[in-house]
Amino acid sequence: MSCIKIDGIEIEVIRKNIKNMHLYVLPPDGRVRITAPVKLKDAAIRIFATSKLDWIKKHRAKYLAQKMQPEKRFESGEIHYYQGKGYILNVLHTNSKQRVEVCKEKNRINLFVREGSTMEQRKKVLTEWYRSKLKEQIPGIIEKWEKIMGVKVKSFGVKLMKTRWGTCNINTGRIWINLELAKRSDRCLEYIVVHEMTHLIEKYHNKRFYSYMNMFMPDWKEIRQELKNSSIAIQ
Ligand SMILES: [Zn+2]
Repeated sequence: MSCIKIDGIEIEVIRKNIKNMHLYVLPPDGRVRITAPVKLKDAAIRIFATSKLDWIKKHRAKYLAQKMQPEKRFESGEIHYYQGKGYILNVLHTNSKQRVEVCKEKNRINLFVREGSTMEQRKKVLTEWYRSKLKEQIPGIIEKWEKIMGVKVKSFGVKLMKTRWGTCNINTGRIWINLELAKRSDRCLEYIVVHEMTHLIEKYHNKRFYSYMNMFMPDWKEIRQELKNSSIAIQ
């Protein structure tokens, strides 16, 4: 193993019996590694690494942010996301209904809870608010796309999922949308609804599926990338 340095970033170079170079940014701390053919000169590796510098930096930043992001405690002053925008959480006490109010001018989410509420209780009020907001938003999106796509969604649900943004049961015509999408931009939510609805036409992620996606939403790849980029920044 050898090491090169580009723009202050150390890159391990491992020479192997391979044909092409491969670049890795490794979790948890964003270490960078290049595997390269045995006979390739250092200069060629430097050129390759330099051409990928933006990509390397982006992925390193992602790991570093993840490492530094503290767990949310649902306390005043924290940043919480709603519809793709960050808001400052403001915890207030109430003896009437526990609720959430968004103040767009002040960039605040006011969370009204009982005095002495626990972190879990505060989290629950906010989570249920996210759920109710999605449940208000989704029917309009489904209705719009049912007309365009000529399919029928029998029912939908919202739940927290760890590995998927949405799922579709083509036998029952039911789609599930990840609760986390309440924190993402409207176009991310719409993209996931359209993706799941496209499964009502085509079950598999095959050519036919993607040609429908290209037709319905020509910029879907860009939106998918937005979702990927935000998955760590937004918790
Ligand atoms: Zn799918």
